[in-house]
Amino acid sequence: RTVYVNGEYLPEHEAKVSIFDRGFLMADGVYEVTSVLGGKLIDFEGHAKRLARSLSELDIRKPMEDAALLEIHRELVARNEIDEGMIYLQITRGAPGDRDFVFPPEETEPTVVLFTQSKPGLAESPAAKTGIKVISIPDIRWGRRDIKTVQLLYPSMGKMMAKAAGADDAWMVEQGAVTEGTSNNAYIVKGNTIITRQLSHEILHGITRAAVLRFAREAQMKVEERAFTIEEAQEADEAFITSASTFVMPVVEIDGAQVGQGRPGPVAHRLREIYIEESRKAAI
Ligand code: PMP
Repeated sequence: RTVYVNGEYLPEHEAKVSIFDRGFLMADGVYEVTSVLGGKLIDFEGHAKRLARSLSELDIRKPMEDAALLEIHRELVARNEIDEGMIYLQITRGAPGDRDFVFPPEETEPTVVLFTQSKPGLAESPAAKTGIKVISIPDIRWGRRDIKTVQLLYPSMGKMMAKAAGADDAWMVEQGAVTEGTSNNAYIVKGNTIITRQLSHEILHGITRAAVLRFAREAQMKVEERAFTIEEAQEADEAFITSASTFVMPVVEIDGAQVGQGRPGPVAHRLREIYIEESRKAAI
C-alpha cells in the first residue's frame, strides 16, 4: 500500500512519524474518513469543511488548501487502485522536540497522514441485509464530541463491550438519552417519521447524517431532530445508524430487545438505496 506522510508518497513500511508527535503523546489531532465508491470520493466537500472546523476549534494550523487535499485523496485512490473503500486522513499539532502540555510554537508543522482501506462490497454489505445488534453504554466522553479528534479509546472500548455481549456496536447514553453510536449517528423510525438527536457539542455532526436527512426530506419523510431514550428506541418501528463507512445500516436489536419485526425495515432500506445512488452520482 502507498501512503502519504508529510508531503511524500511512500510504501507503508517506510512511512514514519516522530515519537514526539502530539497525536501520539496527547491525542492532539483530528481525522476524517471519506468513502470511495466506483473509485470516486463521496462527499469530499463535506469532509473538508468539517476538517477545517475541527482544526480551527483546536487552533491547529490548516496545513493545505482543500484542492491540495483533494489531490492527495485522488492520488492515493489511483495508486492503490481503490474501487470501494475508505480514505483515512489525520492531522495532528505536529512534533515539537519534546513532551510538553503547552502547545508548541506557531511554526511547528502539523503532521499530515493519509492512507487507503480497500473494502470491496462496501455498497453490497451483507450486514445491511440482516441488520446489526447494539447495546447501550454510558457516554463518558469529553464535552466537545463535535470536534472529530483522535481520542477514540472509549468508543473502541465500547465496541469491545458490544462484542463481549454478543452485539455489534454500542449506543451511548447521557442523562437518559442516546447521544450517538461509537462511530456513527443513531436514528429511530416511528411511522413515517425519522428521529435523530439534534446537533450540539454532544455529538459528531455526521456528514452522512446531513446527506441522509436531506434525502429523507426530499422523499417527503418527516424528520424530527430531538433526543430519544433506549426504551423509546426499543419500541420504535425501526432503528438505524449512519456513517461514512456504513452508509445507512439497520439496527434490529437494542439491549436484547427486538426492534420492530427484528429485520431491517423499509425506511432504513429505502434511505440506504437513495443514499448510495445519490452519492454515486455526486461522487468526484
Ligand atoms: N459519530 C461518531 C462518534 C463518529 O465517530 C462518526 C464517524 N466517524 C459519526 C458519528 C458519523 O460521521 P460521518 O457520517 O461523517 O462518518
